[in-house]
Amino acid sequence: MTPVRFPPRAGPLLVVASGLAMLALYALPSGTATMVASAVHAVTLVAAIGALVLGPMSSRDLLSTRRLLAAGLVASGAGLVVETLLAGRDGVVPVPSIADPISLLWVPLAVLGFWRVPRNQQSRAANARVVADAAMCTTALLFASWLTVLEPVLAQQGRSAVTVAVQSAYPLTDVFVAALVLALLPVVRADLRGFFDTVAAGLLFITIGDSGDTLAVVHSGASTFGWQDVFLQLGMALLVFAPFRRTDNKPRGRRRAFLDGSLGQASGLLAGGVAVWKASHGRQLGLTDCLLAMLMLCAGISRQLLHSSELARLVDLHRIAAEQDALTEIASRHAFLAALSERLRSGGPGTAVVLLDLDGFQEVNDSYGQETGDAVLHAVAARAQAVCAPHLVGRTGSDEFAVLVASDDAAAALAQRLAGSHPVLTGETSLDIGGSVGWAVSVAGDTAAELLARAKLALQAAKAHPASVAEYSDALGVTSQRRHLLIAGLAHAVDRGELSLRYQPVRCLADDRLVAVEALVRWRHPQLGEVSPGEFIPLAEDSGHIQVIGSWVLQEAISQVGRWDALGRSLPQLFVNLSAKQLTADLPGQVLELLAQHGISRQRLVLELTESQLPGVSGDQALTELRAAQVQIALDDFGSGYSSLAQLVRLPVDIVKLDRDLVANLGQEGGGAVLTAAVALARSLGLITVVEGIETEAERAAVARSGADLAQGYLLARPMTAADACEQLPRSEVSLPLQAVRR
Ligand code: C2E
Ligand code: CA
Ligand code: CA
Repeated sequence: MTPVRFPPRAGPLLVVASGLAMLALYALPSGTATMVASAVHAVTLVAAIGALVLGPMSSRDLLSTRRLLAAGLVASGAGLVVETLLAGRDGVVPVPSIADPISLLWVPLAVLGFWRVPRNQQSRAANARVVADAAMCTTALLFASWLTVLEPVLAQQGRSAVTVAVQSAYPLTDVFVAALVLALLPVVRADLRGFFDTVAAGLLFITIGDSGDTLAVVHSGASTFGWQDVFLQLGMALLVFAPFRRTDNKPRGRRRAFLDGSLGQASGLLAGGVAVWKASHGRQLGLTDCLLAMLMLCAGISRQLLHSSELARLVDLHRIAAEQDALTEIASRHAFLAALSERLRSGGPGTAVVLLDLDGFQEVNDSYGQETGDAVLHAVAARAQAVCAPHLVGRTGSDEFAVLVASDDAAAALAQRLAGSHPVLTGETSLDIGGSVGWAVSVAGDTAAELLARAKLALQAAKAHPASVAEYSDALGVTSQRRHLLIAGLAHAVDRGELSLRYQPVRCLADDRLVAVEALVRWRHPQLGEVSPGEFIPLAEDSGHIQVIGSWVLQEAISQVGRWDALGRSLPQLFVNLSAKQLTADLPGQVLELLAQHGISRQRLVLELTESQLPGVSGDQALTELRAAQVQIALDDFGSGYSSLAQLVRLPVDIVKLDRDLVANLGQEGGGAVLTAAVALARSLGLITVVEGIETEAERAAVARSGADLAQGYLLARPMTAADACEQLPRSEVSLPLQAVRR
């Protein structure tokens, strides 16, 4: 069954129309009007019950509320029917009668129903707040009702106590239900607001109508048609329409939250207003008035006290959350910066900030999981605090910690103690966690942000060599400016024609034949002059400009080989350096197209990648495609830094370039053995070996003895322009595949 949906404005229009219809009844004689009004009320009541039970379901959580309210309305309806049956010929209903307990069943059912409306939070404290608010509203509405309805009911002469009690029960219980609804307004779940607001408004009208009806009975002895019927009708029509209201789940806006919160308080104002109005009509203040006013005040004060203690608790929680890092329980970034600002304001220069950043923390997270990562951070924070006490330690980034050192003398020693690697025990495993440290001392007029930024620059410098310490110096500041200038310049380097290529020959160790050249990029910056690729390539990788630059290098180097070919100078092979960031899905297509365009066979191209840039055994899609197309891959800089012989076995490469480090170590004890072992392993794997950085004859002789295939270095030739390189190229047309180089 598809749920019934009203067009957006239909509901309010129907409500207003049924109110106007009631007003129209004033045109009829009183008896007829009373009958018609009762009939219309009865039909609307049935419709309201139907809508509550069968209407569209905005949320299943609301089910029990809707059922209880419907049951309550059924009880009131049943009460009315019984009343009509009991009415004498004159239409006068005896009070009390069996109809009264039936009608009054509405109250417990409604209270229970409203109590079950899903709320934002339903903790003990939140429930206590609702009860306190309800108590305050109840006393205020009770006071207002006392002045307008209850007192006249109680003051009736010639009625039995039971009659008076039953008569006053209606407005009294109405007050109670209305107060509960007002207290719930600020806490009802956002998506049920539409339903709840409409029901609340409906009940408000019904309460006013009911009270009016009671007054009418008191004054004229019978319930006849009057203004109260308009209110009753509007109220019941709103109940019909309530289940059709739809609300999104957006949190309340500020204005709406203020309105919801203040409606309950407004009941106090209402009571005050009614009291003033009554007093201005000559009413004397009685004992009951004073007692009720007193009760209202007490409830108001208790409610206020409860709210302020709740508020104080929230403010406390908020403060702790802002000042303390939730994970490590040390000072948060916010609190650290606040303390640093305060210290700089009062203490002036001589304050130092020491920053500790963990090395390879991401890998810990990736390999051991986030839980272990969190445990590591916790342990590092605890250690930092123990090492640095009594100085303030804060967590200023995900794996970055800062220490506020009040005197700069202590900073250097602290920095040393924090740096380096330390074992951290997490569960069963013990991990060696290393950290780099950068620190800076304040100068006059420093802000917290400025000092922290300088410490950060020092940290970046320290990070270049894991587990080391760096103090900020002005040179570092210059470096950072230069970095910005370079990155900005890289964006236009290709467009503005600032890049060029140099070519460094690679020769066969056995017979000195030139077998390849390596293309090396150069950049002339308009202000800074020549910038070495060792400096700008990492910046281009970080800033994303490497794609454009790398493409330009490939295109320029390959087309240069084409031009040499055209001059009858054939270069056997071209080596081009590649960054890992260039390994995209487009790369193979781009490379193969360039080669085809310049008529160069695929075996003549070698792409160089360093070990850290190479994917594992399973390989990268782009690399696999290129190798399948017979383009060769060289492992660059092998033997420098972290590379290991074992890795060589699993990497998808054809050529190994042994780093200058291995050559430079030849003079040291065992240096020759390492080179020889590396060459032997590479050979056994069927790889061609190139030794880089040969600067002296002695090195060249030693490298030749190691059994390596090819050599590159200043001794043989420096990187040179295309024109100079051309002179060195063989005139023959043959281009030897590298395998033929092997002795
Ligand atoms: P690399 O690939 O290891 O290049 C060899 C570097 O060693 C070159 O420095 C070269 O000039 C230098 N070199 C050659 N022979 C000797 C020698 O006998 N002794 C010494 N001490 N050095 C020698 P360069 O041209 O400054 O390049 C530095 C690095 O920049 C390259 O190291 C490479 O990693 C990168 N690079 C250069 N061009 C490109 C490029 O087009 N793309 C990418 N992604 N990286 C490039
Ligand atoms: Ca290289
Ligand atoms: Ca190299």
